[in-house]
Amino acid sequence: MSSQIYKDIYLDNAATTQMAGAVEEAMQPYLRENFGNASTMYSYGEDARTAIEEARRMIAESLKAKPSEIYFTSGGSESDNWAVKGIAGALKEKGRHIITSRIEHHAILNSCEYLEHLGYEVTYLDVDSNGMVSVEALEHAIRQDTTLITIMFGNNEIGTIQPIMEIGKIAREHQVLFHTDAVQAYAQIPISVRQYPIDLLSASAHKFHGPKGVGFLYVREGVQIPSFIHGGGQEQGKRAGTENVAGIVGMGKAAELAHHGMRQRIHRETMLRNYLMEKVTHEIPGARINGHRVRRLPGNVSMSFEGVDGASLLILLDEDGICASGGSACNTGESRVSYVIAAIGVPEEYAAGTIRMTLCGDTTREEIDTAVESLKRGIKLLRDS
Ligand SMILES: *Cc1c(COP(=O)(O)O)cnc(C)c1O
Repeated sequence: MSSQIYKDIYLDNAATTQMAGAVEEAMQPYLRENFGNASTMYSYGEDARTAIEEARRMIAESLKAKPSEIYFTSGGSESDNWAVKGIAGALKEKGRHIITSRIEHHAILNSCEYLEHLGYEVTYLDVDSNGMVSVEALEHAIRQDTTLITIMFGNNEIGTIQPIMEIGKIAREHQVLFHTDAVQAYAQIPISVRQYPIDLLSASAHKFHGPKGVGFLYVREGVQIPSFIHGGGQEQGKRAGTENVAGIVGMGKAAELAHHGMRQRIHRETMLRNYLMEKVTHEIPGARINGHRVRRLPGNVSMSFEGVDGASLLILLDEDGICASGGSACNTGESRVSYVIAAIGVPEEYAAGTIRMTLCGDTTREEIDTAVESLKRGIKLLRDS
């Protein structure tokens, strides 16, 4: 499809983003001409190796980390699995208790559930009506045998940003490792591991205009994490497998683009997001915004409409060429209300009518206006029927 006739309004950037043109260009040489295996000795391999290390340097710099603390993976899910299972396994002699929250991504929740089957204990912290974890409740949950706290940076459905600084400080005081799933937050807001007491952090390229199937795990120097994929000696012997050279190069470029002019983009995106939130609450009766008003990812708007079926509304929006989502791309249909929406206690009359619109740096005010008009039409249609 030619991009000129592709007029859909894409408001589902939390599910995935469109790859940036400059990212594709950066990857191109490594897809064909420069196909060398980064682990070989001849110059093709050397080029690939150099490109990988350049991407690692770029990503490390974006986090104020050291290049040796960045491990490339196949994406957010692998990074989350590795962090949770890896640390739990490595420290099982110290204890078998993990603390997380009820609103984590399934990559964390299902890893925790897997560990429970192996005999670990997991505390799932509740969140308040804004989706915030209580720092007091977290401290209270820490036990002698707690080895890991894993709390996401920003939530994928409702956008709430957790008190990462406070959580990290408490973890450190109690000598418990702290992992954060920053797949939604990394490259959207500034994160420095020098500033934040974070021990491990997950991110994924396709959430910030990079390619799909590549991500990274940051592991603070001195934290011992066992290998997750066993095989060759790639990634300091911790993550075997021939490197996804083009993917890694693309992620490096995407990280560079995202961190260049980030402050301006955040400002612009936040203004548009607030504009959308205000328009929805002022112009549509029986509407509510979910998640924290201020401590929120720049591009996220989660909203619920009284007496409306969210899935039907999404179909009507789609007919108008508007791509939004039900909050999570992984809803299995077992329940019409997502566990995140249930956890923040959205009133029943609203909960089933929840949808999410997530913006990116290219979203325009005109697109928001069109989306709101479509929302109004759809909601009226559904309420009148
Ligand atoms: C998308 C997402 C993931 C999974 O990342 P993939 O690269 O798609 O595996 C994990 N956590 C959060 C918060 C996400 O939004």
